[in-house]
Amino acid sequence: MSSVLVISVVDTLRGHRLLDWLRVPEGVAPTLPGMWGELAHRMQRVLQLREMATNQERDRLAQFLAAIDASPNGVMLLDASDHIDWISSAAADHFGLNQHRDIQQRVTNLVRQPAFVEYLSNGNFTEPLKCPMGHGSKNCLQVYVRPYGDGLKLVLSQDITERERADTMRRDFVANVSHEIRTPLTVLAGFIETMATLPLTEAERARVLSLMSQQAERMQHLVSDLLTLAQIEGSPRPPSNNWTGVSKLMDRIENDAQGLSRGRHTLMFSLPQPCKLCEISGVESEWLSAMGNLVSNAIRYTPEGGSITVTWSSTPEGSAEFSVRDTGPGIASEHLPRLTERFYRADGSRSRDTGGTGLGLSIVKHVIQRHGGELRITSEVGKGSNFTLHVPASRVRYATPA
Ligand code: ADP
Repeated sequence: MSSVLVISVVDTLRGHRLLDWLRVPEGVAPTLPGMWGELAHRMQRVLQLREMATNQERDRLAQFLAAIDASPNGVMLLDASDHIDWISSAAADHFGLNQHRDIQQRVTNLVRQPAFVEYLSNGNFTEPLKCPMGHGSKNCLQVYVRPYGDGLKLVLSQDITERERADTMRRDFVANVSHEIRTPLTVLAGFIETMATLPLTEAERARVLSLMSQQAERMQHLVSDLLTLAQIEGSPRPPSNNWTGVSKLMDRIENDAQGLSRGRHTLMFSLPQPCKLCEISGVESEWLSAMGNLVSNAIRYTPEGGSITVTWSSTPEGSAEFSVRDTGPGIASEHLPRLTERFYRADGSRSRDTGGTGLGLSIVKHVIQRHGGELRITSEVGKGSNFTLHVPASRVRYATPA
C-alpha cells in the first residue's frame, strides 16, 4: 500500500515538473523517466516545430514589409478609425510622419492638409486625390485609398511633383510656341489679303513683300531653333573623343559675326597663342551653336558704335573659358536667373525686332550642360553684359604642334 502511495507521489511530482516547464516552456524540457519523459520530449518537439513555423512566418512578414518599404511609392495601413497601423518610409516621408513614433496615432491629427482630411472623411475613393504636401507644400502628392477587410484602409501615395512640373512646362511650351507662330502668321495673312484685294503700286508691292519676307524669316528662325532644341534634347551624351580645333571654331564665329554686324560694331576676337592649339571634345555643331548664339545676341542687342570682345582663355586647372563681352544696354539683375528659360525675354520688343526667338540662351545652356560645363552671366544696366561658357578640363586638350 505504502509503495503505491510512493509511486503515486513520485508520479505527481514528475507531472508537476512537466507542468512547471510548460508554464514557461523555455530551454530544454525536464528529463523524466517513462511516460512523463516521452510526453515531455514530444511536447518539446511540437513546440519547437511551432516556434520554427512562427519564426519562418515572422521572417516572411519582415521580408514582405521590407519589400513594401523599399518601394518609392508610399504605403500606409489604417485601422477602422483611421489610426496608423503601419507606414512605409516613403509614405512617412510623403506625409511628413515618423515611421515609428506615429504608429497608432489618428492620421488626420497629424496630416492636417484640408484636402486630405476631407478626402478621407468623405469615403469616396473612386478618384485619387492630388494635393500639395511636404515642407512649404512644395511637393505634389497623388493619394489612392483602397478600403479592405473590416473598415481598414490601404493608403497609397506617390510623389508626382516632377510629373506635374513637366506637364506644366509642356503646356506652357505649347502655348508659347503657338503664340510665337500666331503673330507672324496673322501679319502674313493680313498682307496676303492686302495684295489680293487692293491695287498696289510697284513700290507698295515691294514694301509689302519685304515685310512678308521678314515675317516668314521670323517663323523660319523659330522653327529652326525649336528643331535644334528638340535634337539636342533627344540625342545621347556628347562623345568625349570627338575633338574640334578651337581656332577653327573662332574663325567661323568671327566670320558670321562680321556678316551680322556689317561694320556697325567694333569686333575684337582674342585667341592667345598657346590656345591656338586648343581642342574641345563633344558635338561640333552644338559648340558652334552655343558660341554663335552668344555672339549674335551681343551684336543684336548692342547699339551701333558699341564694341564686342570675344575671348578664348585657358585656366591653370586645365579648363577653358569662352567669353563674350559687349557694351550694350545690359540686363537688370532681376532678369538674370530666368534668362535661360525658354521664351523668356528681358526686353520683349527689342528681342522680336532683332529677329530673336527667345530660345537662344536655352539652347546655349542646354549645350554647355550636356558637355559638363556651365554658363555664367554678369551684366550691369547701361554698361553691358558678359556671357561666359566654362568648358570643363575633361573636354579640353592641346594638339601637338605640326
Ligand atoms: P532672344 O532670341 O530673345 O535673343 P535669348 O534666349 O537669346 O532670346 O535671350 C533671352 C533674352 O536675354 C533676350 O530676349 C534679351 O532680353 C536678353 N539678352 C540676351 N543677350 C543679351 C545681351 N548681350 N545684351 C542684352 N540683353 C541680352
